[in-house]
Amino acid sequence: MTQQVPQQVNSSFSAQLPTLQLAWDSTSLGAFKSCPRLYQYSILLGYTSRHLNVHLAFGLWTHSAREVYDHARAQGKSHDEGVTLAVRKAMELSWDRELRRPWASDDKNKNRWTLIRTLVWFLDQFENDPIQTIILANGKPAVELSFRFHTHYQARATGETYLYCGHLDRVGTLGESNYIVDIKTSKHTIDQGFFAKYTPDNQFTGYTLGAKVALSIPVKGLIVDAAQVAVTFSRFERGLVERTPDQVEEWYNDLGHWLRLAEVYAEKGYWPQNDKACQNYGGCAFQGICSKSPTVRDKWLNASFAKRVWDPLQVRGDI
Ligand code: SF4
Repeated sequence: MTQQVPQQVNSSFSAQLPTLQLAWDSTSLGAFKSCPRLYQYSILLGYTSRHLNVHLAFGLWTHSAREVYDHARAQGKSHDEGVTLAVRKAMELSWDRELRRPWASDDKNKNRWTLIRTLVWFLDQFENDPIQTIILANGKPAVELSFRFHTHYQARATGETYLYCGHLDRVGTLGESNYIVDIKTSKHTIDQGFFAKYTPDNQFTGYTLGAKVALSIPVKGLIVDAAQVAVTFSRFERGLVERTPDQVEEWYNDLGHWLRLAEVYAEKGYWPQNDKACQNYGGCAFQGICSKSPTVRDKWLNASFAKRVWDPLQVRGDI
């Protein structure tokens, strides 16, 4: 069976071994941990859905609008001014420029109306937020922080050092401790089980390490602002997701094992299926491909998916 290799330039991959990723983030590492074939399709080859992912778009736009609000408040603007700017941002993002009309979502929970409603109610609820955004040494608020750091892991095949990258929405102080603040949206009820599912969690533990190593901000973990988005209401809960130094160290040690495995696959040019992951998270987007005969998959991939470059050195967000 033939295996495709990347055709497009991606700066996070090795020039010496083009199938070997050197700069990793939670999205690429998460895909690899979940299923090597999923990693091959979505990260290495860059296949992505031709259609807007409602849940992804809703989450990203909520993050972006919240960031506008945080910047406005840090610049001394009032709550109302911040909300106005955030709503304007959300309206712009949810405007379909190609079709010159508002985003038409077919999801009754997540659409343009519930996006704006959730945003306004959320900002109103946390107007007097006890979390104080950290002000960095350069005088800017700790909002929209990208990080990258050199790990002490090296590729055996090329001798190159692996990097780990990420993007933090906000870092703030609650009481005596620092936390990364992150928003998650869900149509399900927010209870303790919702927050418990983030321990262990690839993204959050990597963020905790990244804040400490790359940004020199020791954090105890994350504060998750969870928004339940229903048809007729939005409600919010705040939860702590903490990490001990031992937990972070374990994650980092495991990272070395995952990178070693990624190198094995990169050298062989083969990324096996993990067929126990196909039903995760509502079903894998590539199930329609993996269910076909291996000889026709490339044709179906090219016919069914768009392409993009997923480069942790240049992009942010999740797929
Ligand atoms: S359908 Fe299953 S085997 Fe195929 S990429 Fe997705 S998780 Fe992997």
